[in-house]
Amino acid sequence: MNIQDEARRNGLIAEIRDEFSQTAGYTGFHQLDDRVEEALRRVDRSDFIPEDERGAAWINAPLPIGHGQTISQPYIVALMTQLLDIDPGDRILEIGTGSGYQAAILAAMGARVYSVEIIGDLAERARRQLEKAGYEVQQRHTNGYNGWSDEAPFDGIIVTAASREIPPALVEQLKPGGRLVIPVGSRWGYQSLMLVTKDADGGVHEKEVLGVAFVPLVRDSEEAGGTD
Ligand code: SAH
Repeated sequence: MNIQDEARRNGLIAEIRDEFSQTAGYTGFHQLDDRVEEALRRVDRSDFIPEDERGAAWINAPLPIGHGQTISQPYIVALMTQLLDIDPGDRILEIGTGSGYQAAILAAMGARVYSVEIIGDLAERARRQLEKAGYEVQQRHTNGYNGWSDEAPFDGIIVTAASREIPPALVEQLKPGGRLVIPVGSRWGYQSLMLVTKDADGGVHEKEVLGVAFVPLVRDSEEAGGTD
């Protein structure tokens, strides 16, 4: 990595740290976890961004990845990763592979990552990039609304598109002690990032973390758009 990239990366980490302090009242996190920070430093975000957007890779903003979809803002990637509370070896399911960046971050944290993407072209691009960057992720190209039952249960599930409700299958596919991180709300209306936890007795608890803005999670496959 050249000195300019190193400086940009440090700048981005500093911005994420600032945003963690500013939002601590909502999230309960006073700082960015060291292990999440290490993963953010290790994974090169520019690898997962279309060539014409690469100059903006180290800016704390979402970016278009084609098909009307976006790679999330780095602060949001950091927050969702930290909410998952990953230990090395954890089985983590992601719904919405998109660019593959969030999956790479999870793999860099030592998780065994399973990721589902509904748009074939994005799934294929993510597969190539993840392989090139050396991150092992099990991928499926299908509608992930109902999770991945063959590989369940999971220690954690992360949904990177906004759902109008918490998909019941995803809660079922959590281990006791497992965590589901999901934006809930409508496309243009208010969306709330939710943390859903399953306790040791199977009791389910929901907590609102922060207002967010995500592309919609497709529920029924016939509403799947994004063929541009
Ligand atoms: N995690 C991604 C962000 C992707 S944006 C990243 O790091 O880049 C959300 C993604 O969810 C889009 O690629 C969209 O196609 C996908 N998606 C939406 N509904 C889905 C569904 N029901 N199943 C699987 N993927 C879905």
